[in-house]
Formats: sequence, structure tokens, C-alpha cells
Amino acid sequence: MRKRNLWKILSLCLAVVITAGIIPAGAYTNVEGAGAAHGACEAIADRPDDPARVSEELAGIDWNSRLTYAEIEDVLSALADQYPAYTKLYEIGRSWQERSLWCLEITNERIPNDQKVGIGVFGNIHGGERESGTAALYTAWWFLTNSSDKYVKDLLDNFIIYVNPVINPDGYEQSFVINNRPNLRPTDANGNGIPFSDPYTDIDGDGYIATIYRGKASDTPSTSALARFGMESPDWDRNGILGDDPRSSGIDLNRTFDYEWGYYNIETDPKYNGDENSKIIGNNSWSSNGGARGLGPASEPEIKALQDFMYAHPMNALTTLHTGIQCVLFPWCSREVDESNPAEKEQLDFMRKTAEAMAGQWTETTGRGSYFSNSYYDYPTTSEMIDYAFGRFNIHAYTIEVYQAGGAGKEDVEDCSWGNTLPEAKWVFYSQDDIRNKLGLDPAAITDAEGKPLAEDEGLWFYTSSTNQMVDKAPEDQISMCKGTRDSILVMIESERETVGGGYKLPTYKK
Ligand SMILES: [Zn+2]
Repeated sequence: MRKRNLWKILSLCLAVVITAGIIPAGAYTNVEGAGAAHGACEAIADRPDDPARVSEELAGIDWNSRLTYAEIEDVLSALADQYPAYTKLYEIGRSWQERSLWCLEITNERIPNDQKVGIGVFGNIHGGERESGTAALYTAWWFLTNSSDKYVKDLLDNFIIYVNPVINPDGYEQSFVINNRPNLRPTDANGNGIPFSDPYTDIDGDGYIATIYRGKASDTPSTSALARFGMESPDWDRNGILGDDPRSSGIDLNRTFDYEWGYYNIETDPKYNGDENSKIIGNNSWSSNGGARGLGPASEPEIKALQDFMYAHPMNALTTLHTGIQCVLFPWCSREVDESNPAEKEQLDFMRKTAEAMAGQWTETTGRGSYFSNSYYDYPTTSEMIDYAFGRFNIHAYTIEVYQAGGAGKEDVEDCSWGNTLPEAKWVFYSQDDIRNKLGLDPAAITDAEGKPLAEDEGLWFYTSSTNQMVDKAPEDQISMCKGTRDSILVMIESERETVGGGYKLPTYKK
């Protein structure tokens, strides 16, 4: 990169990063640090917050609401229209359902791109983690509405920030019906030859999708005591089983990158101890959950588009935004640090220090706890985006996990949760008369997945979890989640004022 008066800020930032943590000799500890606000980057102290002047359209966004994908697209195009000197907006590919995957490129377009450092911000690879998409969009909005500010202007003269707020728009939109992690590759879960032939549908009109259990009116309902019967649906495919072919693929896009795909053999790997919930190789790793890893490396169009984009757009650092926990993770996801490889260790140490500073800044801005860790110690996986980015291109890559729901009343920053109150889980009983009269179903024509009908004295219990009642509501104070994520990203950007270890490299096979 060409440097412009950056040394002051750089040295300040690095000093904080370097003194923030001493790496334990020989090994990384499990989850490395929690909750503390240390490690924050001084260089961003002068950043502006809300912009002084902004159009009515862009001022009117409610960052505490759930934005539909169409609303996100409207914000992206308004930003591109109103800040042409600092933006390019283009489609980088399409999802299975033909939704556009957008990149908003944010930089001072008058300065040639090869004189600037590329930075990637990618939200919502997991459809249900919609707060991450909002935080990515907010970051883009903040950069542009503050583009006349001195601090922001300097960043835009020196960096190109590529923002793709939603990698998985189909999963994002489906999450307005029910929280949905996978993409929407057409999938035939019940094997009747028609993909998505029995999608989940709100048949009792309460606005949410219930999990259905068989039982009696006199039962004290609980998910462990009652037997599962199906999912809320009018039985669109008329096979008697409710909701057995939903609009979801079962594929976890963040296990499908073309790097170490299918690398481990779960049957023979000595680290697998047979316990599905094992932290060593668990439920959520590479090949479990049925077809979570997809059909092959980059089998999904959303990920193929992202990989092609990374080939064509050099980046020194990127972040992929998620929810479910509150932390900053860095490579590797698939293995421990190779202590015998000094070049690799130097890079991983750099990312570890930066991750610590990013988590510290996130905590300082949000007032909520977060931790930082090598991703492998959080739980092992393969073919994740950050391993792909670092392994293939030498990009410094970070997962920022921006939201863990609940935890209200604990009021402890070490708790690493958002501290919000969630709706109470709901149970409603429908007798066989109710099933006929209120739900419009023939109780004699429906069975569980094994083909077992209701007994004479049984009805259906509808269970709606807290999460399923959040499909149309954003978490309270989502705006400070957005700001914390912005600040964490600023720390990441500041850490790239000076390239460590050569930065972005094309793989040797790619000329
Ligand atoms: Zn995720």
C-alpha cells in the first residue's frame, strides 16, 4: 500500500495491540480471554458517531428493526445513488432463488485501487443470523454518511471496503417464517420427487411456526416429555405427515468452502469420541448433520460467487459476521497452530492480537461481554470461510459473532450474552375437535413421521420457542450491536495500516 501520514495512528494502534496480551509459551489456551475491555484500539477514538448531515431517506432507517432483504437492497442502492464518489454497487452472483448477491464497494474512487488495501465485510452466511446482516449494512451506511469526516475520509483514501451484508439472502428471507440457517438449494426431504412440497405454514394464525407434539390435554407439556409429531403445516403434500419437506436445504454454507472439504474422516479420526456433543468433534463440525457440508467444495452458488469475488479482489483482511455467541474468532477452524512453522505462527499471532483488540473494542462500545479465541478451540470445523481466506489467499480473517440472545438479569459483562428478555415459549393444546374445526385438518388423516396416528384420547400440543417468536422482532438495542460491530471492524482495518507477512497472495495455481 501507499502510506499517507499514517504512522502516528499506526504506531498508536499497534502499541495497544501488542501490549494487550502476551502469548502463552507453546500453546494457545482454550477460549483465550473474556469480557474485558482491554485491547481497544486508540486510533479509532476520533471516529464520528451519527452523521451531521444525511438525507431523509437514509436518516429514516430503524436500526432496531428487522429489515427485509428488499429493504436492505433499497438501502444499498440509496447509498450508491447518494455517494457516487465513494461507491460502486454490483451483483457478484445469484442465490438459488435468483436473489442478487450484492457488493457495495466503498472507497475514494479517485484514488487507483492498486494504491489501497482491500477489506471485506461479509454478513449473514447463516440465514437466521439476521442481526449480522444489519450490522454489516449499518457499517456501510456509517462509512458513507460520514464520508466528509476527517477520520473516515482518511480511511476511504487508503482502503477499499467491500461490503456484502447478506451472503445467504434466501435463508435470510425464509427466517421471517422460521429461523433458518441453511440456504435454499431445492431439496426433497420426504423423497416424493418434489422439492419443498410441505413447507412450514402458520395454520393457527398466531404468526409463528410451532413444533407439534402428540399428547393429552391433561399433560404438563415439555419438549422432553412429549413425543414429537411434526411441524406446523396444513400437510401441503397430503402424505399425512405435517411439515416433512420444508423450504431449507440442510446445508451449512460455512462448511462448503473449497478448502479442506471433507478433510476429516469422522469414522476413523481418533479425536471423535462418539459423543455427538463433544467439543472435540461435535455435532456442528464438518460432516455431521446429514448433508451440512453440501455436495462438494463450493457446491453452492452463493459460495462459488464469494470465492470468485475473493480471487478477483485482493484483500488484506476480512470479517464474516455471525450470531449465536459473542466473540471474535480467527484461524484455524480445523486444527491447532503448527508451532514448528514460524511463518504461519507469526500470522496467527498477529490475528490473535488483533482479535483480542477487536473483542475488547466491541465490549467497550456495546457494554456487553465478548471473548476471543482460535476458532478450533471454540469448536473444530472444516471448510469455513476464514480458513479458506487465510489458507488460500493469506487474508487475515476473523469471525465476529455479534449476538447471543438472552441472559437478562445477569448484568455481568463476563456473561457474554446480549442481556435481553426473550418472549416466553408458548404451548397451546388442540383437541381432535379443535384440529378439525380450528385447524381445518382431519385428525384421522394425520400421523407422525413413523406413520402412527393419534390415539382416541390424544390431541396436538403446539410449541413455539422464544426464537420462533423473534422472527419479526429485532433484539432490543440492536443499534448498539451495530455500532460495536462497526468499531470492531475499524480495529481490524487499523491493524492493516501496515501489511504483516506480505498480505494477499493468489494461490500458486491461479495465474
Ligand atoms: Zn453463523
